[in-house]
Amino acid sequence: MKIIIAGAGIGGMALAALLRRRGVTAQIYERAANFDHSGYMLGLYPIGARVLHGLGLMEDFLAASERMETYTVCNGHGQVIHTYELGRMLDGFGYSGGIMRGELLALLRRRCEDVPLHFGTSVTGFVEAEDEVEVRLSDGSTDRCDLLVGADGIHSAIRRQIAGELPDHETGWGCWVCLLRDSKRPPKAVVEHWGAGRFLGLYPIKGGLGIVAAAPTRLMGPRAVGKDGGKVKAHFAVLGEGIADVIAALPDDLGETFWWQLSDMRCKAWHQGHVALLGDAACAFLPTAGVGASMALESAAVLDDELGRTDSRFLSGALARYEMRRKPRAEAFQDDSRKLASMMMIESSELSWGRDQLMKFYTLDMVAKTIAQSLATPI
Ligand SMILES: Cc1cc2nc3c(=O)[nH]c(=O)nc-3n(C[C@H](O)[C@H](O)[C@H](O)COP(=O)(O)OP(=O)(O)OC[C@H]3O[C@@H](n4cnc5c(N)ncnc54)[C@H](O)[C@@H]3O)c2cc1C
Repeated sequence: MKIIIAGAGIGGMALAALLRRRGVTAQIYERAANFDHSGYMLGLYPIGARVLHGLGLMEDFLAASERMETYTVCNGHGQVIHTYELGRMLDGFGYSGGIMRGELLALLRRRCEDVPLHFGTSVTGFVEAEDEVEVRLSDGSTDRCDLLVGADGIHSAIRRQIAGELPDHETGWGCWVCLLRDSKRPPKAVVEHWGAGRFLGLYPIKGGLGIVAAAPTRLMGPRAVGKDGGKVKAHFAVLGEGIADVIAALPDDLGETFWWQLSDMRCKAWHQGHVALLGDAACAFLPTAGVGASMALESAAVLDDELGRTDSRFLSGALARYEMRRKPRAEAFQDDSRKLASMMMIESSELSWGRDQLMKFYTLDMVAKTIAQSLATPI
């Protein structure tokens, strides 16, 4: 079966590596010029991490990541509401760790080094003819395959052709993402500060922390305020003196940071004819539950599993089963991340105070319920 993958992100690279393990060589087209742009951190729960076991990458992942041991939620004044033993709860299922996206991509590439990866080439569209797909590329050329996999992220061009323009689910918030190297903070601790109109998350990676600083775009302006890092620092500094090191690490020139509009989307159909959607292209995630990359890895494993039991003549059944196995699970996580977003991203001081009181009674089971349940459920 000839397979083309649009997008060398987490889902696309995982699928390429899994297919390669079975002796199937896909063609990958990636819009970016290289992997250098891939600079933000990802927390992987065992949901996604265990796919790395199957690829023989677990030891490499352990070496390149930092374990997520505890999860602490602070209020908007820096006082701790709760510290949860996250690692201990998930250990029964596998390892949970934080890694830079670029490093995870590099690990996956090790398992499909000889698979053609065409950087700087977008998939712009496709035409289905009989049992083949003609894939249109940004350099004006075309390629042909039995199966096109749209792993081209939240703004997927492949999805647009299947389902048209779909509305984003907007939170009205956006965030800046940057790194704090050589931090003196405990290395294995996830810490979040939930304030009114501001959220600051600190996530362990090897040799540092990933920082997510989120605020309503109404207050801070879309795409930050140009290069005015000072205004952003002042906005988050009120979260308490304990975060002075983090505020100092935020660059004055916000052009250096990664900006993320906090929205997601879901697509009704994950496949059409000989075209399938994978990862964020099918169902994208807010960062609040930290599962988007795990879901992309898991979907890649299920798609590979279904493709391994068929050939191009029976593709439609395999893609239908792939969608059945993945869509309800991914959407349950998406619902969960939306619920968490409505708790974490509160603008009013009164509501934020009420939320903090409720959080005092939130147990670890309640916080990580969907994750733990999903790990105990077969896919
Ligand atoms: C700042 C940030 C923090 C996050 N933190 C976490 C976390 O802690 N845990 C977690 O599990 N998830 C996290 N996520 C979400 C996670 O990154 C995504 O859910 C995951 O990467 C989805 O994988 P994907 O392969 O579908 O898409 P991506 O990894 O986004 O890859 C899509 C790829 O397609 C390429 N592309 C786009 N259009 C085209 C085209 N037309 N043709 C060819 N190539 C194209 C893009 O350049 C990109 O390389 C985070 C996301 C961000 C932005």
